[in-house]
Amino acid sequence: MARVSLERITKSFGDVTVIPPLDLEIASREFVVLVGPSGCGKTTTLRMIAGLETASSGVVRIRDRDVTNLRPGLRNCSMVFQNYALYPHMTVAENIGYGMKVRGTSAGDIDTAVKNAARILNLDPYLARRPKQLSGGQRQRVAIGRAIVRNPDVFLFDEPLSNLDAKLRIEMRTEIKSLHRRLQTTVVYVTHDQVEAMTMADRVVVMNGGRIEQAADPITLYEKPRNLFVAAFIGAPSMNFIEGELIGGQGGLSFRAEGGVEIAIPAARQAIYGAHVGARVVVGIRPEHTVAAGKPLPMIELKVRDVEPLGPHTLLIGTAGGAPFTAQVAAHTKAAADDTALVPIDTDKMHLFRKDSGEVIA
Ligand code: ATP
Repeated sequence: MARVSLERITKSFGDVTVIPPLDLEIASREFVVLVGPSGCGKTTTLRMIAGLETASSGVVRIRDRDVTNLRPGLRNCSMVFQNYALYPHMTVAENIGYGMKVRGTSAGDIDTAVKNAARILNLDPYLARRPKQLSGGQRQRVAIGRAIVRNPDVFLFDEPLSNLDAKLRIEMRTEIKSLHRRLQTTVVYVTHDQVEAMTMADRVVVMNGGRIEQAADPITLYEKPRNLFVAAFIGAPSMNFIEGELIGGQGGLSFRAEGGVEIAIPAARQAIYGAHVGARVVVGIRPEHTVAAGKPLPMIELKVRDVEPLGPHTLLIGTAGGAPFTAQVAAHTKAAADDTALVPIDTDKMHLFRKDSGEVIA
C-alpha cells in the first residue's frame, strides 16, 4: 500500500522558513492535488516527497518506510515536470526506456515496457521520432511514459500541463485521470490552477504561506470552505464578499452593510450566528446563488458596470454593499452598464465569516 505520510515536516532556506510544520496523510491510490498561489510552497512540498529537497525537520514516509534522508532514486517515486525534461538527441523510445537502461534492465524487458507505455499513452506511431518532432501534448505524454515504465509507488506531477494551450490542457487532464484509474497508483499533483485541482483530485489540499488552509474533496471545499482564503480561491467567477455587521432585531438576526444592503438571516441559522451579533462579519455569496429559487428571497441592489453574456448564462458585474459583486443571471437578462439591478440572494447557500479571524461561522 503506497501511502505517503508527511509528519511535522518543515523546510527553511537559510533563515527563511517556507514550510512551517506541516502534516499530511495521502492514502494509497489517492489522487491528491496541492493547489495555492505562487510561492505558497507546493513545489517544495512535492520535492520533499521526491527527495529532491531534504526536509529541515520532520519525517516523510512512503509505504510506511521512513524515507526522510533517502536519496530520490531509492524512494520509488516518478516525477513528471512542467518542462518535460526530455533528452533532445534520443528518440521517444529511448527517452521512455532510458531510466531502465541506466539501471541495467535487459534490452528485451525495456522493449516490452516501452511498448506497453506507448500503447497506454497512444504514442506507438511516434516511438522513432525525436522530441523536437512532437507537439507539446505528445512531449508531455513521453514524459509521463518515462514515469510509467518505472512502475513507481507514487507519481509526482509538478504543474505538468502549464506549457500546453487551453484545449490540450483539458484533454490531458482527462488522460491523466484515466491513467490513474487504470494504474491505481498514488498521485500527488501540483498546480496553481483551481479548476485543474477541482476536476482531477480525489482530495484537494489548499496551501497558503506554507500552511494547509483546508484539505477536502472538491465538493466539500466548494460548499463548505473553512475560511475566507479557501472561499476566495475556489470557484470561478470568485465568491462575492460583502463586509458588514450582524444585528439583532424583533424579526430576528440580519446582516447589514453599506448602501442600504440588509439580508435577513434564515431561521435555521439564527442560533448559530446569534453568538456573533455586533461583530464585523463578511458575507460570502457565490455568483450562481443570485438566481430566483422559487422561494421568497432577500434582494440586494447591484450597481451594474459590465454585462457579460456567456451563452448558458449572463454575468452582471458591478458593486453591491460597497464591494465588487458579480451575479450570474439567466442568459437573456436585459441589463446595461449603469443600471441598478435587484438581485435575489439565496440565503440558504450564503456563507458567513468572522472579519477578524477569517474563519467561517458554521
Ligand atoms: P509556484 O506556483 O510559483 O511554483 P510554489 O507554491 O510551488 O510556487 P515553491 O516553489 O515551493 O512555491 O516556493 C515556496 C517558497 O520557497 C517561495 O517563497 C520560494 O521563493 C522559496 N524557495 C523555493 N526554493 C528555494 C531555494 N532553493 N532557495 C531559497 N528559497 C526558495
